[in-house]
Amino acid sequence: AEGRKNSPEEESIVVSVRLRPLNEKELARNDGSDWECVSNNTIAIKSNLSERIVFPTAYTFDRVFGFDSPTKQVYEEGAKEVILSVVKGINSTIFAYGQTSSGKTYTMNGVTEYAIADIYKCIEMHREREFVLKFSAMEIYNEAVRDLLSADGTPLRLLDDPEKGTVVEKLTEEVLRDRSHLQELLSICEAQRKIGETSLNETSSRSHQILRLTIQSSARDFRHARSSGALASTVNFVDLAGSERASQTLSAGSRLKEGSHINRSLLTLGTVIRKLSKGRNGHIPYRDSKLTRILQNSLGGNARTAIICTLSPARSHVEQSRNTLFFASCAK
Ligand code: ADP
Ligand code: MG
Repeated sequence: AEGRKNSPEEESIVVSVRLRPLNEKELARNDGSDWECVSNNTIAIKSNLSERIVFPTAYTFDRVFGFDSPTKQVYEEGAKEVILSVVKGINSTIFAYGQTSSGKTYTMNGVTEYAIADIYKCIEMHREREFVLKFSAMEIYNEAVRDLLSADGTPLRLLDDPEKGTVVEKLTEEVLRDRSHLQELLSICEAQRKIGETSLNETSSRSHQILRLTIQSSARDFRHARSSGALASTVNFVDLAGSERASQTLSAGSRLKEGSHINRSLLTLGTVIRKLSKGRNGHIPYRDSKLTRILQNSLGGNARTAIICTLSPARSHVEQSRNTLFFASCAK
């Protein structure tokens, strides 16, 4: 954002874009790519198509990843720095934002795996401290919050705690024994999410998933430790609803009612991110949606944010891709 001259390593919001490869169906119908990654931070639409279009033709971000960039690279260059600040006691959030089928879940699942491996590595390097890790997971569908570690689908209430801020009442929080315990819990979440999907149409395009890892640490030996202070921080891995749920302009002739189409949490998140990127003062409407209330302590303030915007390369998706790039530009 303007006026801030942070180095990329300490940027509070890091925005990157990832273009997925064309899939077989798109290849079969010759729904070819209009996008090219012209450098490692700029993506452009091919000029033969853009002549008649008034939108910008090139967009620059912190990083741009082409269809041949593996998730490992996306993680290393677009998310690692932000996520690992959690070990230093700084809250962070990583989002995957993009239309349905653009690669949010694919990217987020991979990033989460790499992040967990690195977090455990960091912990092992700091033998002088004792760490306690806790894990919880939830899904927001139609502004109702569901526990992904419990088979009980009852919507959970949000409460305001004078010390902790917004807390999700009765949300399961597991103290992790080790890494394999965390893997077990991740499989439970995935299964829970699938159950929701079969009972409600299109859940994954309409719901947000938040995986939350809380890390507490303190020095084992207070007499020798340099920093004996106790630290506690949270990292959130957020797989957002399809960004078509935040489109302001419904396609012509669409009979969809606003209420069934627009996703309030996604719209509010857009507003919150835009305001935060312009500076951290003034009113930020965290309270306008469940997603932003739950994430409030991990957005803004000292917290760090990484946003990976996923893009479909198909020509038939060009309008949604532009919307995604517009969102990404506003976040910078
Ligand atoms: P979304 O969660 O945004 O709806 P998905 O992550 O489910 O999209 O991706 C849609 C399909 O595209 C999946 O079959 C996924 O495996 C594939 N896909 C997405 N991104 C990539 C990528 N970068 N490389 C290869 N396949 C991908
Ligand atoms: Mg998905």
